[in-house]
Amino acid sequence: MAKGPKNAISPTRAENYPEWYQQVITAADLAEDSDVRGCMVIKPWGYAIWENIQRRLDAMFKATGHENAYFPLFIPMSFLEKEAEHVEGFAKECAVVTHHKLVPDGEGGLRPDPESKLDEPLIVRPTSETIIGATFARWVQSYRDLPILINQWANVVRWELRTRKFLRTTEFLWQEGHTVHAAREQAEDETRLMLDVYAAFAEQHMAMPVIKGEKTAGERFPGAVATYSIEAMMQDRKALQAGTSHFLGQNFAKAQEIMFQSEEGQREYAWTTSWGVSTRLVGGLIMTHSDDDGLVLPPKLAPAHVVILPMHRNDEERDMVMEYVSNLKGALEAQLYDGEPIRVRVDSRDLRGGEKKWQWVKKGVPIRIEIGPRDIAQGGFKPARRDLSGPPQDLVSAEAFVASAASILEEIQQGLFDRAAKLRDEATVEIDDLKQFEEFFAAKAPGGLAYAYFTDGPEMEAKCKALKITPRCVPLDDDPQPGKCLFTGAETTKRAVFARAY
Ligand code: AMP
Repeated sequence: MAKGPKNAISPTRAENYPEWYQQVITAADLAEDSDVRGCMVIKPWGYAIWENIQRRLDAMFKATGHENAYFPLFIPMSFLEKEAEHVEGFAKECAVVTHHKLVPDGEGGLRPDPESKLDEPLIVRPTSETIIGATFARWVQSYRDLPILINQWANVVRWELRTRKFLRTTEFLWQEGHTVHAAREQAEDETRLMLDVYAAFAEQHMAMPVIKGEKTAGERFPGAVATYSIEAMMQDRKALQAGTSHFLGQNFAKAQEIMFQSEEGQREYAWTTSWGVSTRLVGGLIMTHSDDDGLVLPPKLAPAHVVILPMHRNDEERDMVMEYVSNLKGALEAQLYDGEPIRVRVDSRDLRGGEKKWQWVKKGVPIRIEIGPRDIAQGGFKPARRDLSGPPQDLVSAEAFVASAASILEEIQQGLFDRAAKLRDEATVEIDDLKQFEEFFAAKAPGGLAYAYFTDGPEMEAKCKALKITPRCVPLDDDPQPGKCLFTGAETTKRAVFARAY
């Protein structure tokens, strides 16, 4: 391949993918490290993407009957102890509050006041099943109170040892849905409904194709009867769990006495679910679409759809250009894309044109337009699309551009999805032979997604551990014929998709 111009991001994806990822985050000004280990500062451009994710998802939750509420950040330690598997799953990564007062330590610093020791330590929520469950136990009396369909937007803390911006941080932002139902089937339906909502959001808004499936026993949420997830494939062919939906059965209801009087007058335990997506989605979005020049944003979630860069050399030119730009901005904002006015930024900072342009390339804005006196005299400009490489080609009049802007944005959105789906499909294989499976996941092999027959058990787990992979999920839309487990040879009708994962 001919050597192209130097890329804005170094190293490139091919040279060092993990480092490329960090560099894209810096170049696009999305987030930075903080003074607290594993916690990041989300900068305005990164936060604006998260706000767009939030706004869209929130509307989808409300359209499916959910309401928002807010619960405490702290969980009494005894609450966590009630569900045995849950405590075991989270105990290793909990931040614990033990004191409520600081006093001078006699050496110019501070220390917790021993007098202020709490009778019962408080856990900073790693997830809120227990505190919300305790509340639900008070809210639920009769079958008439059900279902309860609640969502909370919040931060949580999991003391992760290996962190990476957005993908895995110690504190992260997320939403957690928590619902209570009178019957098992209703809770199961809710679990699947929210999985569908996540998949629709990932594919339609993030332009990120996903596989919907059920987790194997070893990957289940602590305390859940069944965990479902959406799994995406990043450009380095590693999988990313992008969202989870849990059917909790009656486990938490029993631990927390969530009981109701049925229509027949019996006292019964309720059925509960929980489901969540986090700021990890921003990491998934970066890794799915971005290139060696920086971030590439799917239009539906881009904080700006169009950035206009006015070019001028003197005051007279400036006045003329700014008037033209202001009219163009107004005309674009009067157009709708995805049901909302087109989002336009004008960057009139006093900066060199080239430098300014590259900043917006790196920030991933779908369409850039440079406008100077020459363009105005020519009666048009050449818009540049972030999803296409090479210099902009066609001169268009302002009227023609305004009229077609929404359809160009939709074309970009669809094009990003198609490109990601193609990459994933090319990296997906079906494997019935253990040797082939080992070769596919050999240390130096590119890897990808492998569909294989399996039975859940120690043989599969040991092989996955050796190959540094995990079963991502058992895809719901797979319809496998009877086959032989790759790891034990036993007859099975279940296939999982295996991959290296984040
Ligand atoms: P869970 O409650 O474990 O099912 O997680 C809910 C969602 O949060 C999933 O989509 C996870 O991928 C995501 N998630 C879990 N841990 C982290 C973390 N440390 N940083 C960011 N996202 C996370």
